[in-house]
Amino acid sequence: MLDNYTIADHFSLLGKLMDIHGENSFKAKSYSSAAFTIEKLPVQLSDTPREKIASLKGIGDSTAKKIGELLDTGKLTALEEITALTPAGILEMMQIKGLGPKKIATIWKEMGIESLGELLYACNENRLLLYKGFGEKTQESVKQSIQFYNAHKGQYLYADIEAYAFQLEQLFQQQFPTYQTSLYGDIKRQSIIITQLDLLSTASLPDIQNYLEKLQFLPLTIEGNQIHAQAPEGAKLVVHQCLPEEFTQRLFASTCSAIFLEAFQQNSNTKEDNSSISKVEKALFEAAGFHYLPPNQREFPEALRTLNQPAPLTTITIADIKAIIHSHSNWSDGLESIETMANACIAKGYEYLVLSDHSKSAGYANGLQVERVREQHLAIDELNAKLAPFQIFKSIESDILGDGSLDYDDATLQSFDLLIASVHSNLKMTQEKAMQRLLRAIEHPATCILGHMTGRLLLSRPGYPVDHKIIIDACVANGVAIEINAHPRRLDIDWSWIPYAIEKGCLLSINPDAHSTEGFEDIRYGVLAAQKGGLTPQHNLSSFNLEAFKNWLKERKHKI
Ligand SMILES: [Zn+2]
Ligand SMILES: [Zn+2]
Repeated sequence: MLDNYTIADHFSLLGKLMDIHGENSFKAKSYSSAAFTIEKLPVQLSDTPREKIASLKGIGDSTAKKIGELLDTGKLTALEEITALTPAGILEMMQIKGLGPKKIATIWKEMGIESLGELLYACNENRLLLYKGFGEKTQESVKQSIQFYNAHKGQYLYADIEAYAFQLEQLFQQQFPTYQTSLYGDIKRQSIIITQLDLLSTASLPDIQNYLEKLQFLPLTIEGNQIHAQAPEGAKLVVHQCLPEEFTQRLFASTCSAIFLEAFQQNSNTKEDNSSISKVEKALFEAAGFHYLPPNQREFPEALRTLNQPAPLTTITIADIKAIIHSHSNWSDGLESIETMANACIAKGYEYLVLSDHSKSAGYANGLQVERVREQHLAIDELNAKLAPFQIFKSIESDILGDGSLDYDDATLQSFDLLIASVHSNLKMTQEKAMQRLLRAIEHPATCILGHMTGRLLLSRPGYPVDHKIIIDACVANGVAIEINAHPRRLDIDWSWIPYAIEKGCLLSINPDAHSTEGFEDIRYGVLAAQKGGLTPQHNLSSFNLEAFKNWLKERKHKI
């Protein structure tokens, strides 16, 4: 039998959903207050004669009938119907502290946001501030609540769990100084999404168990040589115990993709069993006749080919990034002034800044109308005179409109130094539609860079379907660079396409899509992902120095 609490929950949810859907607010209120009343009743409704329920204070005829239905069938038809009309992401949003029905209605109906990931991203882009009832404080607390909620759900962006994982590894190393312990598997190879943390350790199982219990990693179970436990902060942890002589080989194998490992073993100089190598991983590479390759780059067999050459190919590093390409100022939805962003670039040693605020159709992001584009260009001219030799390039992140056209007239388009084209609206589309839009935008002579190609938001929104090869081929044919959006929730285009892009001679560009100077730091995650795909500085536009970048633009201008 249903107890009063469960019945109350049903009515409370029904009231909230009706409010979110903008239905009869009087009725919605009556269900909410019924929920409140039911919770406080001194007797269980299931023990109350039906005819008496309607006469209870605070419960009307309509509610009484619904209580009867619930008690008889265990279901509430009205609730089931309205739930079916609500996207799963909106239902999830109701779990977020600080988000009542009114705010959720605004988020859903006015902002067009249907998932927590999209909402978090909108917070990062300061988009909530444009709506009634959402101040900076609210936006910040919504952001924190979502992060908290996500942290307890079991799947993490690499960027969100990296620091915690390193800390855990360090704790183990300090606790067991005479044993070897290392991060292991997905987290060690820096997969962009992490579902569980793995540690490999040579300490004994009982010692590890005691230590985990002390750290409150509960519940905890032992399966063979593994301990499965729940971190107090929510993450799932598996500690794999092994013998000292197995350590290096196990660690190495866990960081390789299957195809990489196979190629490694086949091309190894030594056919002996390497499992006795208990030194460091570098010795393993050495014995096999290869140069060392870090754990996050053991994805493609192609990476091995250059490793037995005297001068191996150098994969890109953060030091190879020479510029901030793709950034937003407070002229659209960024937090800071152009000058602040430029000065932060100079302080960090970047040679130039490509300022690309949102275009006019992006009303939600305070996109620039033609008049404001002109004003901004004058402001940039002034700053460039002041900050030389540092240079700010006049760019725009032009919405790719529904039919694939760009967001301004030709004269305005020509006034930019370069243009980044991105899809921001009507993301739910067939592959055919997505391809039409993207290809038309790529073929426009003004387009220089294709921004976040699939529109995906990791762990919250899949990208629209595209044929990657056709898009990459079209970008090569039109001299368009493809962005590797470095925001850890985007990392779009996916790193797995980098080898194909390089093979076709496509230029890529690791861009932070920064909405504040703090956003510049995301470059690091773009670089880590790009390393997985074996990107070299030669193939990365944001590694071009100022002169090379200007030359690239000049060549492009000739094409128009
Ligand atoms: Zn964008
Ligand atoms: Zn952007």
